[in-house]
Amino acid sequence: MLERTKELNNWLTSQKCQALVAALNDKHFTAVYCETAQQAADYILQAAEQAQSIGFGGSLSVADLQITSALIKAGKDLLNHGLPDLTPEQRWTIMQQQQTCDLFIVGTNAATTDGCLVNIDGIGNRVSAMIYGPAQVIVVVGRNKIVEGDYIDGIQRIKAVAAPANAHRLDRDTPCAESGFCHDCDSPERICHVTTIIDSQPSGADLHVLVVNEDMGL
Ligand code: SF4
Repeated sequence: MLERTKELNNWLTSQKCQALVAALNDKHFTAVYCETAQQAADYILQAAEQAQSIGFGGSLSVADLQITSALIKAGKDLLNHGLPDLTPEQRWTIMQQQQTCDLFIVGTNAATTDGCLVNIDGIGNRVSAMIYGPAQVIVVVGRNKIVEGDYIDGIQRIKAVAAPANAHRLDRDTPCAESGFCHDCDSPERICHVTTIIDSQPSGADLHVLVVNEDMGL
Protein backbone atom coordinates (compact mmCIF):
# COMPACT_ATOMS: atom_id res chain seq x y z
CA MET A 1 0.00 0.00 0.00
CA LEU A 2 1.36 3.44 -0.89
CA GLU A 3 2.43 5.47 2.16
CA ARG A 4 -0.23 8.22 1.84
CA THR A 5 -2.95 5.64 1.26
CA LYS A 6 -1.78 3.68 4.29
CA GLU A 7 -1.75 6.84 6.41
CA LEU A 8 -5.28 7.78 5.38
CA ASN A 9 -6.53 4.26 5.92
CA ASN A 10 -5.00 4.20 9.40
CA TRP A 11 -6.60 7.53 10.25
CA LEU A 12 -10.01 6.30 9.07
CA THR A 13 -9.81 3.02 10.95
CA SER A 14 -8.52 4.83 14.04
CA GLN A 15 -11.64 7.00 14.02
CA LYS A 16 -13.84 3.91 13.74
CA CYS A 17 -11.96 2.12 16.53
CA GLN A 18 -12.29 5.13 18.83
CA ALA A 19 -16.00 5.48 18.05
CA LEU A 20 -16.43 1.81 18.98
CA VAL A 21 -14.52 2.37 22.23
CA ALA A 22 -16.91 5.21 23.11
CA ALA A 23 -19.96 3.07 22.28
CA LEU A 24 -18.65 0.18 24.39
CA ASN A 25 -17.84 2.42 27.35
CA ASP A 26 -21.40 3.78 27.13
CA LYS A 27 -22.49 0.14 27.59
CA HIS A 28 -20.35 -0.08 30.79
CA PHE A 29 -17.60 -2.27 29.36
CA THR A 30 -14.04 -1.12 30.11
CA ALA A 31 -13.05 -0.35 26.54
CA VAL A 32 -9.58 0.83 25.58
CA TYR A 33 -8.19 2.02 22.26
CA CYS A 34 -4.87 0.44 21.23
CA GLU A 35 -3.04 1.90 18.25
CA THR A 36 -1.01 -1.29 17.87
CA ALA A 37 -1.23 -4.98 18.75
CA GLN A 38 1.82 -4.47 20.96
CA GLN A 39 -0.16 -2.03 23.12
CA ALA A 40 -2.86 -4.68 23.53
CA ALA A 41 -0.23 -7.28 24.46
CA ASP A 42 1.24 -4.92 27.07
CA TYR A 43 -2.23 -4.28 28.53
CA ILE A 44 -2.89 -8.02 28.86
CA LEU A 45 0.50 -8.77 30.39
CA GLN A 46 -0.08 -6.08 32.99
CA ALA A 47 -3.56 -7.42 33.80
CA ALA A 48 -2.10 -10.94 34.04
CA GLU A 49 0.13 -9.88 36.93
CA GLN A 50 -2.92 -10.16 39.20
CA ALA A 51 -3.96 -13.56 37.79
CA GLN A 52 -2.65 -17.10 38.27
CA SER A 53 -4.92 -19.20 36.03
CA ILE A 54 -5.26 -17.78 32.53
CA GLY A 55 -7.63 -19.22 29.95
CA PHE A 56 -7.52 -18.82 26.18
CA GLY A 57 -10.64 -18.91 24.08
CA GLY A 58 -8.95 -20.27 20.97
CA SER A 59 -8.73 -16.97 19.13
CA LEU A 60 -6.37 -16.12 16.29
CA SER A 61 -6.44 -12.47 17.41
CA VAL A 62 -4.99 -13.52 20.76
CA ALA A 63 -2.51 -15.92 19.15
CA ASP A 64 -1.29 -13.01 17.02
CA LEU A 65 -0.23 -11.21 20.22
CA GLN A 66 2.35 -13.93 21.02
CA ILE A 67 2.07 -13.48 24.78
CA THR A 68 2.15 -17.10 25.93
CA SER A 69 5.92 -17.39 26.37
CA ALA A 70 5.95 -14.31 28.63
CA LEU A 71 3.10 -15.76 30.69
CA ILE A 72 4.84 -19.13 31.02
CA LYS A 73 8.03 -17.35 32.07
CA ALA A 74 6.00 -15.50 34.73
CA GLY A 75 4.86 -18.86 36.14
CA LYS A 76 1.19 -18.60 35.17
CA ASP A 77 -1.08 -21.61 34.77
CA LEU A 78 -2.22 -21.51 31.16
CA LEU A 79 -5.47 -23.16 30.11
CA ASN A 80 -5.28 -23.66 26.37
CA HIS A 81 -7.54 -26.34 24.90
CA GLY A 82 -6.06 -25.78 21.44
CA LEU A 83 -2.70 -27.34 22.18
CA PRO A 84 -1.75 -30.25 19.92
CA ASP A 85 -1.71 -33.80 21.27
CA LEU A 86 -4.46 -33.30 23.85
CA THR A 87 -6.99 -36.10 24.13
CA PRO A 88 -10.66 -35.12 23.72
CA GLU A 89 -11.10 -35.68 27.47
CA GLN A 90 -8.16 -33.39 28.32
CA ARG A 91 -9.50 -30.74 25.95
CA TRP A 92 -12.92 -30.91 27.58
CA THR A 93 -11.42 -30.62 31.08
CA ILE A 94 -9.44 -27.54 30.11
CA MET A 95 -12.53 -25.92 28.63
CA GLN A 96 -14.34 -26.53 31.92
CA GLN A 97 -11.45 -25.04 33.91
CA GLN A 98 -11.53 -21.95 31.72
CA GLN A 99 -15.02 -21.19 33.01
CA THR A 100 -13.64 -20.28 36.45
CA CYS A 101 -10.16 -19.00 35.65
CA ASP A 102 -8.73 -15.72 36.96
CA LEU A 103 -8.33 -14.18 33.52
CA PHE A 104 -9.91 -15.28 30.24
CA ILE A 105 -8.44 -13.88 27.02
CA VAL A 106 -10.49 -14.13 23.88
CA GLY A 107 -11.36 -12.51 20.56
CA THR A 108 -14.76 -11.70 19.17
CA ASN A 109 -16.27 -12.60 15.81
CA ALA A 110 -17.78 -9.14 15.44
CA ALA A 111 -18.11 -5.87 17.35
CA THR A 112 -20.88 -3.60 16.15
CA THR A 113 -20.77 0.18 16.15
CA ASP A 114 -23.77 0.28 18.48
CA GLY A 115 -21.58 -1.42 21.11
CA CYS A 116 -22.38 -5.13 20.94
CA LEU A 117 -20.06 -8.16 20.88
CA VAL A 118 -21.47 -10.84 18.60
CA ASN A 119 -20.21 -14.42 18.45
CA ILE A 120 -21.10 -17.83 17.11
CA ASP A 121 -19.70 -20.97 18.74
CA GLY A 122 -19.79 -24.65 18.00
CA ILE A 123 -19.58 -25.87 21.61
CA GLY A 124 -20.33 -22.71 23.57
CA ASN A 125 -17.35 -22.88 25.94
CA ARG A 126 -15.83 -19.70 24.56
CA VAL A 127 -18.97 -17.59 24.67
CA SER A 128 -20.08 -18.85 28.07
CA ALA A 129 -16.71 -17.90 29.63
CA MET A 130 -17.01 -14.47 28.02
CA ILE A 131 -20.27 -13.90 29.86
CA TYR A 132 -19.97 -15.56 33.26
CA GLY A 133 -17.37 -17.21 35.46
CA PRO A 134 -13.83 -15.86 35.05
CA ALA A 135 -12.81 -13.07 37.44
CA GLN A 136 -11.78 -10.93 34.49
CA VAL A 137 -12.26 -11.21 30.74
CA ILE A 138 -10.25 -9.37 28.11
CA VAL A 139 -11.65 -9.32 24.59
CA VAL A 140 -9.29 -8.36 21.77
CA VAL A 141 -10.98 -6.70 18.78
CA GLY A 142 -8.97 -6.06 15.63
CA ARG A 143 -10.26 -3.26 13.39
CA ASN A 144 -11.35 -5.82 10.81
CA LYS A 145 -13.98 -7.09 13.29
CA ILE A 146 -15.80 -3.76 13.45
CA VAL A 147 -19.21 -3.89 11.79
CA GLU A 148 -21.23 -0.79 11.10
CA GLY A 149 -24.73 -1.48 12.33
CA ASP A 150 -26.36 -3.75 14.88
CA TYR A 151 -26.21 -7.42 15.87
CA ILE A 152 -27.93 -8.53 12.66
CA ASP A 153 -25.08 -6.98 10.70
CA GLY A 154 -22.67 -8.67 13.11
CA ILE A 155 -24.17 -12.08 12.44
CA GLN A 156 -23.98 -11.43 8.71
CA ARG A 157 -20.26 -10.73 9.01
CA ILE A 158 -19.73 -13.94 10.94
CA LYS A 159 -21.57 -16.03 8.39
CA ALA A 160 -19.84 -14.32 5.47
CA VAL A 161 -16.29 -14.25 6.84
CA ALA A 162 -15.45 -15.68 10.27
CA ALA A 163 -17.35 -18.96 10.24
CA PRO A 164 -16.28 -20.20 6.78
CA ALA A 165 -12.68 -19.13 7.41
CA ASN A 166 -12.62 -20.81 10.82
CA ALA A 167 -14.22 -23.98 9.44
CA HIS A 168 -11.50 -24.05 6.78
CA ARG A 169 -8.77 -23.36 9.40
CA LEU A 170 -10.07 -26.15 11.63
CA ASP A 171 -10.40 -28.52 8.68
CA ARG A 172 -14.08 -29.16 9.35
CA ASP A 173 -16.17 -31.29 7.05
CA THR A 174 -18.65 -28.51 6.26
CA PRO A 175 -19.62 -27.03 2.91
CA CYS A 176 -18.32 -23.58 3.88
CA ALA A 177 -14.85 -24.99 4.56
CA GLU A 178 -14.73 -25.89 0.86
CA SER A 179 -16.61 -23.03 -0.77
CA GLY A 180 -16.00 -20.07 1.57
CA PHE A 181 -19.77 -19.41 1.73
CA CYS A 182 -22.28 -20.34 4.41
CA HIS A 183 -24.79 -22.97 3.26
CA ASP A 184 -26.67 -23.08 6.60
CA CYS A 185 -25.61 -26.69 6.74
CA ASP A 186 -26.73 -29.50 9.01
CA SER A 187 -23.28 -31.11 9.00
CA PRO A 188 -22.27 -33.02 12.15
CA GLU A 189 -19.16 -30.84 12.09
CA ARG A 190 -21.11 -27.57 11.87
CA ILE A 191 -19.37 -24.85 13.91
CA CYS A 192 -22.47 -22.67 14.27
CA HIS A 193 -24.60 -23.88 17.18
CA VAL A 194 -24.62 -21.04 19.71
CA THR A 195 -25.08 -17.35 18.91
CA THR A 196 -24.50 -14.73 21.61
CA ILE A 197 -25.00 -10.99 21.67
CA ILE A 198 -23.35 -9.25 24.62
CA ASP A 199 -25.12 -5.93 24.40
CA SER A 200 -23.70 -4.38 27.59
CA GLN A 201 -21.45 -5.51 30.41
CA PRO A 202 -23.13 -8.40 32.28
CA SER A 203 -23.88 -7.72 35.95
CA GLY A 204 -20.93 -8.60 38.17
CA ALA A 205 -18.56 -9.07 35.21
CA ASP A 206 -15.24 -7.32 34.69
CA LEU A 207 -15.06 -7.29 30.92
CA HIS A 208 -12.37 -5.28 29.16
CA VAL A 209 -12.41 -4.74 25.42
CA LEU A 210 -9.21 -3.77 23.62
CA VAL A 211 -9.98 -2.22 20.24
CA VAL A 212 -6.85 -2.44 18.11
CA ASN A 213 -6.15 -0.37 15.00
CA GLU A 214 -4.69 -3.37 13.19
CA ASP A 215 -6.25 -6.32 11.39
CA MET A 216 -6.30 -9.30 13.75
CA GLY A 217 -7.78 -12.73 13.35
CA LEU A 218 -10.60 -13.68 11.00
S1 SF4 B 1 -23.87 -23.05 9.24
FE1 SF4 B 1 -22.52 -24.63 8.35
S2 SF4 B 1 -22.02 -23.83 6.31
FE2 SF4 B 1 -22.79 -22.09 7.51
S3 SF4 B 1 -20.96 -21.15 8.35
FE3 SF4 B 1 -21.78 -22.56 9.91
S4 SF4 B 1 -20.64 -24.47 9.56
FE4 SF4 B 1 -20.39 -23.20 7.73
